[in-house]
Amino acid sequence: MEDYSGIGLKVGLEIHRQLDTKKKLFCECPTEEVGDGEGIEFVRRLREVQSELGTIDAAAKFESRKQKTIVYHANLKNVCMVEMDEEPPHNLNPEALDVALIVTLLVDAEPVDEIHVMRKIVIDGSNTTGFQRTCIVGIGGRIEVKNKIIPIQTITLEEDAARIIEVRKDEVHYDLSRLGIPLIEVSTGPVIESPEEAMEVAYAIGRILRATGKVKRGIGTVRQDLNVSIKGGAPVEIKGVQELELVQKVVENEVKRQLHLLRIKEELLKRGVKKEDILNAKPVDVTRVFSKTSSKIIRRQLEVGGVVYAIALKGFAGLLGLQPLPGIRFGAEIAGRVRAWSEVEGIFHTDELPGYGITLEEVKALKDVTGAGESDAIVIVAAERDKTLDAMDVIKERAAEALDGVPEETRAARPDGTTVYMRPRPGSARMYPETDIPPIIISREYIERLKMRLPPTLDSIAQKLVEKYGLSKQLANDIVDSDMVEDFEDIVSKTGAPYTVVASTLTELLRSLRRDGVNVERITKAHITRFFELVSSGKVAKEAARDVLAAVAQKGQDVDRIVDELGLWSPPVSEVENRIRTLVKEHEKEISADEKRAIAKLMGELMKEYRGKVDGALLNSMLVKTIQTLKSKDV
Ligand SMILES: [Zn+2]
Repeated sequence: MEDYSGIGLKVGLEIHRQLDTKKKLFCECPTEEVGDGEGIEFVRRLREVQSELGTIDAAAKFESRKQKTIVYHANLKNVCMVEMDEEPPHNLNPEALDVALIVTLLVDAEPVDEIHVMRKIVIDGSNTTGFQRTCIVGIGGRIEVKNKIIPIQTITLEEDAARIIEVRKDEVHYDLSRLGIPLIEVSTGPVIESPEEAMEVAYAIGRILRATGKVKRGIGTVRQDLNVSIKGGAPVEIKGVQELELVQKVVENEVKRQLHLLRIKEELLKRGVKKEDILNAKPVDVTRVFSKTSSKIIRRQLEVGGVVYAIALKGFAGLLGLQPLPGIRFGAEIAGRVRAWSEVEGIFHTDELPGYGITLEEVKALKDVTGAGESDAIVIVAAERDKTLDAMDVIKERAAEALDGVPEETRAARPDGTTVYMRPRPGSARMYPETDIPPIIISREYIERLKMRLPPTLDSIAQKLVEKYGLSKQLANDIVDSDMVEDFEDIVSKTGAPYTVVASTLTELLRSLRRDGVNVERITKAHITRFFELVSSGKVAKEAARDVLAAVAQKGQDVDRIVDELGLWSPPVSEVENRIRTLVKEHEKEISADEKRAIAKLMGELMKEYRGKVDGALLNSMLVKTIQTLKSKDV
């Protein structure tokens, strides 16, 4: 366990969630994916976009460097002239504005007096216009998470971007269906101090958003961005964490990565390495060293006229291969940076050589040619000449940044919780006004009207479940988080089955069945209701829930038939009573010798016979009662 307060961890969250409105943010297209419609394709080229403030943003410059052709795919049922940038945006969707203002009020933030739609430069091609429309709706709120106040900086409404469907060598393909779907963004202050807390805050915000009843659910509807920094480091932005559960792991990994970079900085300083040493190093053409190489990757490059260049990094020996955690090492930092700037396949460093078909002789030759000493590392790149020289610049730049420790950058989250370099951190010159949409005045009356119809928070709904049904707080939250409140209340009112059993069936049991590969989508509310009717009338034991529901999902038959087939009907009470009486009589001596032990033994017998058919607690109480009766007769 890291000592997170000791290292000064500070995390800020930006939670993005798609709104489930009927229409998109600036046009009348539906936000639901509408099957296959008439499709069209069109092509754009990226160009260097200059913001109206006159500076070229580092992030924009980065994207434009790649010079790819963008191919857009439009399903005309989901896309109109607005998404294609052939027509100005229509008015801001009032339904989406309502939701954003309701969230603003739910987090105690102040609604703005006037909505100003802005253009945020985004030139990776994910927006046909080269910018994303965005507007701040609320400022300066707060939520409480585990007795700590988490400040909410802004509540923003923006349009979702197009989705990448394919990346080819010189082309990127986007589907426009998602472009323009309203997104709400809630950002916290950078006050979160542990990975666990980051996840708790993400969940808490998720519950506030869901309370509106107007957010989309499922894969791809939620994206979290994180700002992570530690003492002595720099803010790093991590984009696109798709699952709430992943937030904690991403923060943990990022802390380890940053600590590793700080350790490398310290070591380099100890070794007396200076930035100028790195920046003044000259790349050397080492193509000849590899003229007979058995490295497949290098050979492939040489066959198509490529070259191999090497650069010696003074004092870096051993530091590129050091790996405190799988995936976290300085060699990967360099490779990630190079690959983000230009698609280079062949990149190696001497900490991992000889290897990958590169021999010891070749490594020795590299050292001779570059003049690298024992304490230096060499990085080589094999590709077309232009790309290779570009890569050499990127390597020098990244290696020099090692002396700063943690470079400010934007990284992308991967599904395993690690991150990869994405682009430089965007500068501040990225916003300018959207002139096609006039400002919208938010009147006091409008806000008062919304205040009258604020939805109850999910926390208050969970609290009600605790009070009304005696559920544990955790189970109540679980019911609320799995969106089962209505089903739960319906089933208990219809069947009168024990509340906690119904609640845990709807949550824990269904989850556990899903984990075991059972297709729980086939289990309907009617199935569960019928099962608990049988439980309430004493015909089936609640312990049979797992077997019965699993079989329902597998066979698609009704509950009664499954209980039949599995032979899980409870025997009549009189039959069980007789069985218990016989057993007790047979064991009279044992009972008088050691009652406790005898009860345990007899319970074992009874459970063998009635497991899944008669409630265990019921069996126990019947057994104890029979023994009591017997004893009273003896007296
Ligand atoms: Zn449209």
